[in-house]
Amino acid sequence: LTIELGLIMQNTEINTPDALWRPMTQHQVMRGKDAPSRIVRAEGCFLYDDQGKKHLDGLAGLWCVNVGYGRQELADVARDQMGELCYAAPVLTTGPAVELADKLQTLMGFEKGHTYFTSSGSEANETAFKIARQFHLQTGNPRKYKIIARHRAYHGNTMATMTATGQAERKIGYDPMAAGFLHVPPPYPYRAHAKFTAEEHGEECAKFLEDTINYEGAETVAAFIMEPMISGGGVLVPPDNYLPRVREVCDKHGVLLILDEVVSGFGRTGQFFGHLHWGVKPDIITFAKGISSGYLPLAATVVRENIFEAFYGEPGTLRHFRQINTYGGHPVACAVGLKNIEIIERESLTENARSVGSYLQSKLEGLLAHPYVGDVRGRGLLLGVELVKDKESKEPMLADKANAIVQHCAKNGVMIGRNGNTIPGLCNVLIFAPPLVLQNSEADMIFDALSNALQQALN
Ligand code: PLP
Repeated sequence: LTIELGLIMQNTEINTPDALWRPMTQHQVMRGKDAPSRIVRAEGCFLYDDQGKKHLDGLAGLWCVNVGYGRQELADVARDQMGELCYAAPVLTTGPAVELADKLQTLMGFEKGHTYFTSSGSEANETAFKIARQFHLQTGNPRKYKIIARHRAYHGNTMATMTATGQAERKIGYDPMAAGFLHVPPPYPYRAHAKFTAEEHGEECAKFLEDTINYEGAETVAAFIMEPMISGGGVLVPPDNYLPRVREVCDKHGVLLILDEVVSGFGRTGQFFGHLHWGVKPDIITFAKGISSGYLPLAATVVRENIFEAFYGEPGTLRHFRQINTYGGHPVACAVGLKNIEIIERESLTENARSVGSYLQSKLEGLLAHPYVGDVRGRGLLLGVELVKDKESKEPMLADKANAIVQHCAKNGVMIGRNGNTIPGLCNVLIFAPPLVLQNSEADMIFDALSNALQQALN
């Protein structure tokens, strides 16, 4: 999650009565300005405001509206389900929750897998941490409680998931952080030491993880959490050997591998799940966003059979998972989630993300000739452009200047993102994550807006 949308609103002179406290927004600059325009309608990849302006949403909301806006069949499913059964306590069983759990198990290719539903990515990750700790406690490793995460990654806004998040600017003012979290660096090929090949860099980063586990004492480390590709932290794609090596390291030291697929799940990267690019299976996987394309809040934590089994026990022994979420397995959200997955499959949106994504990526690569464009990277429709002051030294472009480029695009009707308020000195990556229904002609609009903004930035 990045601050791009907040910035777009703030800088397109939209303001709001302060009754509405916007995320990631400095309200002071809005004071005394005109009433804000409001988004009133959306269709496909476009948002429409009450001033009649059309915006191409290059971020799919917050990387979540995978099937695009305005799907009547999702609205119909929600209406029908709400009419029939609007809610059931999560300890009860409902058809939509069971069917969606079954569907996730099949999609994951787990022989057996078990899904715990929540309503946001933060809750899904928080749930994963608790499951990992309780799993070790109940399988003879009571000292395994530490969670290793990565610098630059985003995992959520709750105390534990913010602590796991590797973005210093998101933590200022909120100390003390949760106990028991550590960070290791992610592969970052663009800024890796020049002496390393991509593979050697991947190996180095996996070794850093293993060294950290050893230094901490493997008997104290419960889990390693990572996004297959870092998204909001600046779109970092690992070298191909990294994930398989991470899997080996985790297996060797009895550390659970949690994959945060909150962004990369459901077709975004041109594979149905991000980890499929590297053929590595997690122990725990978390989903949100694309699971329902943002039509309703829905998230999931899916675990392998051996983890689920560690929670079996006699009633009264407190071995079961002692968490409940009022909206977990919400029948309306699950019914929408199921239909959303059906649409992704029926319309081959994963394949579309792959083909339109590679079309957009190769156009963006054409911008590497521009003096400010240091790197272009990504997979499918999760793309990043790293901006620099100087290509030789790779000195990062300052956040304000990068932000001006985002705002220039917004003024021209194309909303794109940036990794704002994340890494000190490195909030210089533009992010593109449009709905997966994007067509080449719409990719051209994104490209044109960016080239225009980059041209402007030279003046
Ligand atoms: N994990 C990743 C990779 C994310 O990008 C996000 C949000 O952007 C989250 C977790 C948290 O999700 P939510 O905002 O639904 O709590």
